[in-house]
Amino acid sequence: MKPAAITQGFDTRVVQGGRASTDHYGFVNPPVFRGSTVLAPSVEDLLNYRQPFVYGRLGSPTTAALQDAVRELDGSAGVLLCSSGLAAIALALQATLGPGDRLLMSDVAYRPARRLCEGILHKTGVVTEWFDHRTDAATLREMICPSTRAIYLEAPGSQTMEMSDLPALIAVAHEFDLIVILDNTWATPLFFDAFAHGADIVIQAATKYLAGHSDVMLGIVSASSRFLPALQQFHRDTGVCVSPDDAWLTLRGLRTLAVRLRQHQESALHLARWLAQKDEVQAVWYPALESDEGYALWQRDFSGAASLFTVILQPASSDAVAHFLEGLELFGLGYSWGGFESLALPFDCSEYRHFPARKPVGPCIRFYIGLENVADLQRDLEQGLQRFKAAR
Ligand SMILES: *Cc1c(COP(=O)(O)O)cnc(C)c1O
Repeated sequence: MKPAAITQGFDTRVVQGGRASTDHYGFVNPPVFRGSTVLAPSVEDLLNYRQPFVYGRLGSPTTAALQDAVRELDGSAGVLLCSSGLAAIALALQATLGPGDRLLMSDVAYRPARRLCEGILHKTGVVTEWFDHRTDAATLREMICPSTRAIYLEAPGSQTMEMSDLPALIAVAHEFDLIVILDNTWATPLFFDAFAHGADIVIQAATKYLAGHSDVMLGIVSASSRFLPALQQFHRDTGVCVSPDDAWLTLRGLRTLAVRLRQHQESALHLARWLAQKDEVQAVWYPALESDEGYALWQRDFSGAASLFTVILQPASSDAVAHFLEGLELFGLGYSWGGFESLALPFDCSEYRHFPARKPVGPCIRFYIGLENVADLQRDLEQGLQRFKAAR
C-alpha cells in the first residue's frame, strides 16, 4: 500500500481556490448573497446585462466563489452547480445527447443514473447500452457505432466497488470522438485527476465529501471548454440553480477536504483490513486493499481511496444482519455518505446489473467510515460481529 499521496499543492488549492476574484472588505469568506433581483444603475446597464450578476437564478458572488474553487481544483474550463448530484448527471446527459444518439454506460454506475437513462433519456430518443466494467479496449471498440455519442464511466462502481481500466477506455472513446462523462464522486479531484486522464465532463455529488457534513444536497458538473457552452445553455434554459446557503456550506466544507480525506482514508484502510480477516466476513470489496481484484488499477491510476467499501458477510438470515446493524452505536443506518459520521447500508444489486461480476453468496453491507476514533469504530463493529455470530 502506498501512503496517501495528497500533495501539498492540493491542500493549498482547496484552501486558496476561488478566493482571488472578490473583495469582501477583508473578510475571508464571501457572505451568503440571498436574492432574486439585482438592481442596475441605469437603463443601459439593465438592458445590456452589464453587471457581473443580473438575476438570482443566474448566480451570485457566493455561487461564483464555489464555481471558481471547483474549477481550479478540477483544472476544467468551467463549473455548473445543480440541486443534487443526480441533477448534475441529468444535466450532463441531457445537454449533450439527443434523439438517435447512443450512450455507452458502465454497468456499475450509480443506480439512479441508470434509471434516468432507461426512463426519461430513453423517451427523448437516447439509447443506452451497458458495458461490463471489465471491458477492454478491443471490446469497447466493437461496441461503438456511428451514432454512439458518449461514454459514461464510474470507478470504482457504486456499491460493488469494481475498478475499470479508465485510461484504456478513455483512449478508445477519444479515437471515436465520444464525449467522456465521468462520475468522480468516490475519488474527488484529490484522488483521481479526471481531466488529466482525458474526461470531458466530470460529475460530482458535492452532497458527499465536498460539502462533507451531511447537511447539503448539491451537484457539480465540471467541463472542458468544448462542452461547456452546451451545458451552460441547458443549465440556463432549464432554470437550474442552487440555494446560496447550500453553495456557501459546500464552499466551507471544501476548505477542509484534503485533511478530512486523509483521515477518512487512514481509518477506512485500517478497518477494511481488519474486517477482511474476521471469520464472519467472507470478502471486503475495496480497491485500496491488496487482495482486491481492482487493486492494480487503483494503484496505477488513483492517488488515494475514499472511505467507502463493501463487506460480504457469511451467509446468514436477514435477522442476523439486522442484529448486527441495529445494535451499532456509532454507525448510523442511512443512505448517502461523505459526512463526518459513519454509516452502514445493506444492499442487493443482483436485480439490476447486466454483468454481475461479483456474485456475493452472503449479505452485502456498504460501510462509510467517518471521522470518529478508529478504535471506537472497530470496537463497535467487533461487538456487532459477535451479535451476528450469535444470531446466525
Ligand atoms: C450520491 C451519489 C450521486 C448522487 O448525488 P445526490 O446529491 O445524492 O443526488 C451520484 N453519483 C454517486 C457516485 C453518488 O455516490
